[in-house]
Amino acid sequence: MITNLTGTVVAVEANFYRVRLDSELADECGHSELLCVRRARLKKIGQQVYVGDRITVDEPDWQGGRGAISQVEPRRSLLERPTIANIDRVLVVFALADPEPDPWQISRFLVKVASSDLPAIVCLNKRDLVADAQVTSWCDRLQTWGYDAIAISTYTGAGIDLLKAQIAKGVTIISGPSGVGKSSLINLLIPGSELRVGRVSQRLGHGRHTTRHVELFQLSDRGFLADSPGFTQPALTCAPIDLAYCFPEAQRLLAHNSCQFHNCWHRDEPGCAIRGDWERYGHYLVFLDEVEAYDAKTAASSTPDPSLKSKAIGGGKVRQEPKLLKKRHRRQSRRSQHQDLDLYSNEDL
Ligand code: GDP
Ligand code: ZN
Repeated sequence: MITNLTGTVVAVEANFYRVRLDSELADECGHSELLCVRRARLKKIGQQVYVGDRITVDEPDWQGGRGAISQVEPRRSLLERPTIANIDRVLVVFALADPEPDPWQISRFLVKVASSDLPAIVCLNKRDLVADAQVTSWCDRLQTWGYDAIAISTYTGAGIDLLKAQIAKGVTIISGPSGVGKSSLINLLIPGSELRVGRVSQRLGHGRHTTRHVELFQLSDRGFLADSPGFTQPALTCAPIDLAYCFPEAQRLLAHNSCQFHNCWHRDEPGCAIRGDWERYGHYLVFLDEVEAYDAKTAASSTPDPSLKSKAIGGGKVRQEPKLLKKRHRRQSRRSQHQDLDLYSNEDL
């Protein structure tokens, strides 16, 4: 007798939730999935249900494959755009060739993921197209940036087992620029996923490409992979003071040294421990301009930040800078309950 029917929401469309039952339950009741509605009581209390939510189903109608969601477990995290609950990591895919790897683009993706406080797994695909020396050179380079990259090929299968082991548990969201082989990788990791997508869309009465559709594909008992549409230029929106923490190599510098001023932006402040000759410092400075512009734009519509001062930088432009304060304190946690990867911010819309 099953008392607690638990599972994971793998797709949401209109008022329907596709629920993947936990595997041990699925074996017991002979069903792996149910198409569910949300109990009226949950609606009344404003309890939303998202892809990735861990839920309880009651009153299953096994014949019709239907059920009702009666409870939602507290979320560990909630990513916005796309909205997915309980994500464990982001798999960032780039290509070693075709398209050529672009250090600026790779860096931007990695910073974006770091700013959402999710760990990144970096994959370099199409290793069949380049010589071993080139693979090593990119892996070594990424190592100095603080990332252990896995070189893979969806054509030859190289590196795929290593990758599988790293994403076997939990929820992984896949991201990366267009053309690097994300769809090929999803199809390799989850054979038949395309077929399944077609079937589900039909059942829910919508075409997959007509909506901003996010879906979790099952990798293993408790492992899921979420697809997300390709994007080329994720917008960086973290606070300027947090940007350095999105670079593991800068974080390492900060672990051993402190800047003279606790709210240093590491640009031209005196006594800065970060400014220097590490490869991505140039990226840091350019991204700092970007997050600063974003910050100024959002600040313009709210009350002024007392920790910033305005400085004229010529050409009629004004730049915000931190008021340098000598007192040291720990940086505040960047973790917010709602993380935003902004996957839809550019190319897709
Ligand atoms: P996406 O835009 O990231 O989803 O990329 P796709 O999966 O559509 O792949 C883009 C192109 O790269 C397609 O022509 C694939 O056949 C090709 N491709 C994917 N993986 C590999 C690989 O490992 N090696 C090579 N040489 N080509 C690949
Ligand atoms: Zn500094």
